Order: sequence, then C-alpha cells, then structure tokens
Amino acid sequence: MAGLSIHGFKKSFGSLTVLPSIDLEVPDGSFTVLVGPSGCGKSTLLRMIAGLEEPDEGMMFLGDKEITLAEPSDRGIAMVFQSYALYPHMTVYKNIEFGLKLARMPASERAERIGRAAKILHLEQLLDRKPAALSGGQRQRVAIGRAIVRDPEVFLFDEPLSNLDAALRADMRVELAELHNRLGTTMVYVTHDQIEAMTLADQIVVMNKGQIEQIGKPMELYDTPQTKFVAEFIGTPKINMTDGVLAKSVGAAWLGLRPEDLLITDTPSDKTLEASVRLVEQLGSETVVHTEIANFGSATITSSDRFQAGIGDTLHLMPVLDKAHCFGADGNRIEISQAP
Ligand code: ADP
Ligand code: MG
Repeated sequence: MAGLSIHGFKKSFGSLTVLPSIDLEVPDGSFTVLVGPSGCGKSTLLRMIAGLEEPDEGMMFLGDKEITLAEPSDRGIAMVFQSYALYPHMTVYKNIEFGLKLARMPASERAERIGRAAKILHLEQLLDRKPAALSGGQRQRVAIGRAIVRDPEVFLFDEPLSNLDAALRADMRVELAELHNRLGTTMVYVTHDQIEAMTLADQIVVMNKGQIEQIGKPMELYDTPQTKFVAEFIGTPKINMTDGVLAKSVGAAWLGLRPEDLLITDTPSDKTLEASVRLVEQLGSETVVHTEIANFGSATITSSDRFQAGIGDTLHLMPVLDKAHCFGADGNRIEISQAP
C-alpha cells in the first residue's frame, strides 16, 4: 500500500486551462474525496492519476516511486467508472476474470482472487448471471470486483453511484465505507455530491474552477470553512449567507449562519431578528422552515421540534453569532474578534 503525492499538476485543453496548478497529498490508506461542482476539473485530475491523461507539467509519486508518465497498467492503480461498462454477453465471473486473463495470470490464482472478491462484495450467488439479470447496485459491485481482483495500491472512483436511485445510493455508500475499512487500501473518490463526500471521506478536497479551495476532515470543513465557496458548498440545507447589516456590523463583507444556528424564540429583543415564514417542511425527524428576514434576505432554519407555522407568520430568531462564519470581499474567512 502507498499514498499519492502530486506536485504542480497543470492541464489545459487548447486555450482552456482546466487545472492551473494542483498540489495534493493523498495519505496512505486514506479515503480521500474530491468534491466540487460539475466542470471544475475533478475527472481530469483523476484521469491524470490513472494515467489516462497526461499532465502538461508536474510530477506524481506513489509512495516514493515516480509514476507521472507510467503506463496505466503499470501504476498499481485501478479505476471504477460511473458507467460500469460490463460485457453483456459474459457472466459476472467472466467479467471479473477478463482483465486477469489479459494479464496472463494463471487460472488457479484467477479463481482464488475472484472467489475472495465475490465474498467481500456479496457476489457469490451471482457469479453465473449475465449483467442484464443484475440490479444497478449489483452491476456496480461487479465493476468494483474487477478493480479489487487486480489488488491495486490505490482505487480511483469517478462518481460511481450517480446512476443509482437515492435509496440504493445510500446503501452503496455504506458498502463502500465498509469496503474501505476492510481493505484499508488508499481510495480517491470523485463526486459532485457533498453528502457522499461528508459521509465517506476521512479527507475532503473541495475544488472550484480547477483549484483546491480547502482540504480537511468533513467536520473541519463544516465548522471552519476557509472560504465563502466552501461554506456554501458543504452543508444541507445550505448555509444562510448575507451581505446585509448584520455582516457590516461585524466588519465583514459576508456573514453566514448555518440553519441550526438561527434559533426560534418566543421572546423578541434587540438581539433577535424578525422572519416571515415562506414554507414549512416537516421531514419527520426535523422541520425545515424557509423564511425571509428584513435586512438579511432569505434564510432557512432547521429545528428538531415538530414545529407548526402558517405562511406569512412572523417568527423571532436568535442568531448564534459566535457560530457565525465571516468572509471578506475576496471570499476568504476572517475571524471576528467580538460579537456585536
Ligand atoms: P468534472 O469532472 O469536475 O465535472 P472535468 O474534469 O470533466 O470536470 O472537466 C473540466 C473541464 O475540462 C470542463 O470544462 C470540460 O469541458 C473540459 N474538458 C475535459 N476533458 C476535455 C477534453 N478531452 N477536451 C476538451 N475539454 C475537456
Ligand atoms: Mg467528472
């Protein structure tokens, strides 16, 4: 096993600079998730790690071995794509075996590796089936099986769950987390879904327009986002961001409050804000209230109470200002010394 070390990766397509310069450490054994909006360069970076795309500049190491320009098959890296690309006329067994046969692995070792992977992925009962007779989640497990039998030092995943429905995605998230716990192999996982990133990663890399905005543990990004972009990208429902008087009163260009940091109170004061209710969503375990606050803008509030309110009702909200996230006009975090 080994970690990855990327230094100064640059990539342009014609006049379009996709990645101006990327430095990234992927610790050995980590589950590192690259997350960011569509088009920010995640797949391009992953394809360069896999060797499917050449960087214009920069170097990459696996452990202490330089692999910047190594052949994809010589890297010890296996990639799982969003489209499973299984061979429809082959059984699950043959699909998993295919790459090993190409690599001229002896039959006995092939059988042993496929048996081990099938056990890990709960595919033992499905080995004789063809892909058409499998569910989406089962197909994705076969695609992961093909990667596992190669016994790579690093797994790469490019949005592997995007084609699955919501319930199956949640199940597969748990399976992938368990797989990582079991194998302990370094994984680099690309997604545009911040919930996947928050639940799977031990290290999240937030990307925006080809650049890394912040690297950190999931709750570090949630608790201390270093930029306005990260504050708005991580967290559901989204953080409430205002450039109104509340921000100006603390000397910031932007002030953000997470939905749980606006508390509904029965006692209005000069420290509370008046909010007009736009919509109440009862989700069962929590209530989400969409409101409009004067001099602040629209704001979403979450509460674990089974809260009832009508559209247009007035609520009094106490902002938890020591939990506020403040940003300068450049979008970078600033620490405010004193709450107003
Ligand atoms: P992501 O995976 O984050 O959605 P990509 O890495 O796929 O983003 O793409 C980043 C940008 O690079 C996009 O603007 C995309 O259109 C462009 N791009 C990716 N691959 C190519 C290519 N082979 N030729 C030209 N442009 C490309
Ligand atoms: Mg992509």
